Amino acid sequence: MRKQVIAGNWKMNGTIASGSILIEAFTSFLGDKDLDCEIVVCPPFTALERAVSLTKNTQVSVGAQNMDYHDAGAFTGEVSPLMLMEIGVSYVIIGHSERREYYGETDAMVNEKIKSAFFHSLQPIVCVGESLEQREANETISFIHGQLKRALQDIPADQVEKLIIAYEPIWAIGTGKTATADQAEEVCKSIREYIAELYTPNVADLVRIQYGGSVKANNAREILSEPNIDGALVGGASLIVDEFNEIIMAAQ
Ligand code: PGA
Repeated sequence: MRKQVIAGNWKMNGTIASGSILIEAFTSFLGDKDLDCEIVVCPPFTALERAVSLTKNTQVSVGAQNMDYHDAGAFTGEVSPLMLMEIGVSYVIIGHSERREYYGETDAMVNEKIKSAFFHSLQPIVCVGESLEQREANETISFIHGQLKRALQDIPADQVEKLIIAYEPIWAIGTGKTATADQAEEVCKSIREYIAELYTPNVADLVRIQYGGSVKANNAREILSEPNIDGALVGGASLIVDEFNEIIMAAQ
C-alpha cells in the first residue's frame, strides 16, 4: 500500500517568526497521533533551518521549494542540494508550474534536478500539469505524458519507484477552482499507466501521485479517497492551521 503524502507549499510567504508559529501549531495538533501519512512543510529558503529544528522528533518533515542541480559553483542566487542536506532538509519540490512559468524552468532542468536530488538522497516531489488552454483543447494527457517522458529521461526504475509526482493543473492553482475528484483521478490514473508503460507495472504501483490545486479542508477527503491519488500538494491552505490540520486528518 502506498503511503499518502500531504505537503504544504508555503511559496514566498511569511517570515521565520510566522513560519515558526505555524509549525508549532501543526506539531502540537499532531502530537503523538498515530498517523498513517507523511507530512511535509516547504517554507521559503530563509526559514528552512528553523523549520528543521522545530520539527525534530515530530511527524513533520521539511522540504525546499526548489534547488539548483549543481553541487556548488558560480551560480549566483541559487541554492544547491548539498546546502539543503547540510541543514537537514529531506524533500524538494521540483518543476512547480510557477518556476516553469516565471523562471523559465524546462523539462530538461527538471530532469537534471531529479537526478541530483536522488544522488543526494533528497526526496523529489515533481510537478506536472496542464494549462486551461491545453485542457480545453483536449491535450491534457498527451501534454503531461510528454512532460513526464522528458523529466524522467535516463532515470532508472529503482529511483522512479521512489518518486512523488504532483499533478497540478495550472488553472486550479491559487484560483479556488479545484479539479473535480473525477478529473484529478483520471489524470493521476493516466500518469500511473504511463509509468507502467515507460517502466513496469510494479514501478507504477509504487510511485506516489499527489493532486495539487486549491486543495482545502472541504474537498480533501473526496480527492484523497480516489484510488490513484496518494496525497496532496497544498498551497494557500497550508498556511492556515485548521485547514492544513484537517487536510492531514482527511488522509487518515
Ligand atoms: P494552491 O497551490 O493550493 O494555493 O492552489 C497549490 C500549489 O501551487 O502547489
